Amino acid sequence: MRVGIYHGDKWDSLYDKFDESKVEVLADVDNLDFSDRLLKINNKLYTLNSLNRKNNFATVKEVEIHTDNRELSFEDNITCPYCNWEDVDSWEQKDDEDTIICSNCGGEFDYIRYVTVEYDSIPKKAPKVKEL
Ligand SMILES: [Zn+2]
Repeated sequence: MRVGIYHGDKWDSLYDKFDESKVEVLADVDNLDFSDRLLKINNKLYTLNSLNRKNNFATVKEVEIHTDNRELSFEDNITCPYCNWEDVDSWEQKDDEDTIICSNCGGEFDYIRYVTVEYDSIPKKAPKVKEL
């Protein structure tokens, strides 16, 4: 079964009404599934964004993969050190530390969650002054 691979920015036209003649095929493969998160096509790296088995097409997005062991610190959300994908639902992770697999590129990395406590002070009643 042939699967056509297209740029993710053509998503709307592919999803609403699949018309292969309107989009450029990046590649054709015999089979594809979501274990194939990272694809190399014509020396460029892409992540697999969608897979439509009914019409046998997939959409991909070009990605830069960092393999220099960089660490990301104090980000607002869990962010993949390989592809910069940001998990906007990071708060759903139940543990404060864990190893996860990036759902964008398939890279595996550790995260640590830091929780800070802050306080507000709102005036209610000024202190009494005893004049002597
Ligand atoms: Zn990633």
